[in-house]
Amino acid sequence: MAIAPWHEQAWAQFVGARASNRLAHGLAITAPGDFFKLEFATMLGQAMLCRSPLSDGRACGTCRDCILLASGSHPDWIAVSPEDSAYIRIDQIRDVSARLAQRPQIGVRQVVLLHPADRMNVAAANALLKTLEEPTPDSYLILCSERHERLPATIRSRCQTLAIKPNLDDRWGRALAERAEVSLDAAITALQMAGNDPQAALAVAAPDELAARASLAKSLLSLANGRTEPSVVSASAGKEVALWLERFAALLRLSVRSVSLKSPFEELRDLTSRLEMSRLFALQREQGRIRALLGSGLREDLMLYELCCQWRDAARGTR
Ligand SMILES: [Zn+2]
Repeated sequence: MAIAPWHEQAWAQFVGARASNRLAHGLAITAPGDFFKLEFATMLGQAMLCRSPLSDGRACGTCRDCILLASGSHPDWIAVSPEDSAYIRIDQIRDVSARLAQRPQIGVRQVVLLHPADRMNVAAANALLKTLEEPTPDSYLILCSERHERLPATIRSRCQTLAIKPNLDDRWGRALAERAEVSLDAAITALQMAGNDPQAALAVAAPDELAARASLAKSLLSLANGRTEPSVVSASAGKEVALWLERFAALLRLSVRSVSLKSPFEELRDLTSRLEMSRLFALQREQGRIRALLGSGLREDLMLYELCCQWRDAARGTR
């Protein structure tokens, strides 16, 4: 796979550090959102194990190491994620340390990928810190977190940061369009709506999803103008209440986007950005509360109806 345009800068940082032998044992991948971080971290690990990398530093895909990696059986590739728990546990980190204490089995180095590294309990984090403080030669630990700032400061300070930055350019839309198999127009709209996070945008870019969001945006505008009734809009959720709430929340979040948007998203953003902050927060809280109550037996249609009334009243207050 080629280096995606959103990863180019961080990749160049990695290649530069490796070329000048300044690559730390602990590497932390950061990004202001999803940004296909795991994909980046995986490509990084593959590049480190490949014995004949391409000129741009990527794994060749054809050597013995690459073939073993592709089949999931490279003995020097250690992937660690939470198992039967929300957190990575200490025994998993101890296993990693024990393996790193041995020599690489077939290659010249061992590579560990921790994901999500910020989902580690305290004992596991302390054990990892020890491993980072006393690194074995030729071992690398890649820490890929959901939110880098959740990692203990002691661990962060032991890692070299490779930062994926949201430096949007024209190629992002084209790359996303290709990946999502949608039109360039849809890809650009999705990027704008997702705050230029390509991974978040991928979910938005699907034609049905964009159409559903546009339809909900129009309904919310109609409610604000008194051209439709709350009951009509709440009924439009049908059985997909959770999805409806997710779209509603995403549309409210447009108020903080500073890019220009397409109609009807632009009109909705204009309206939400004029809402009082307290009312906007109250609407977000309420949709979150309803989401948490789904499946509890409470009447979902009534809760949605109330939310639509709340939206209408808040939107009318902006005039
Ligand atoms: Zn290779």
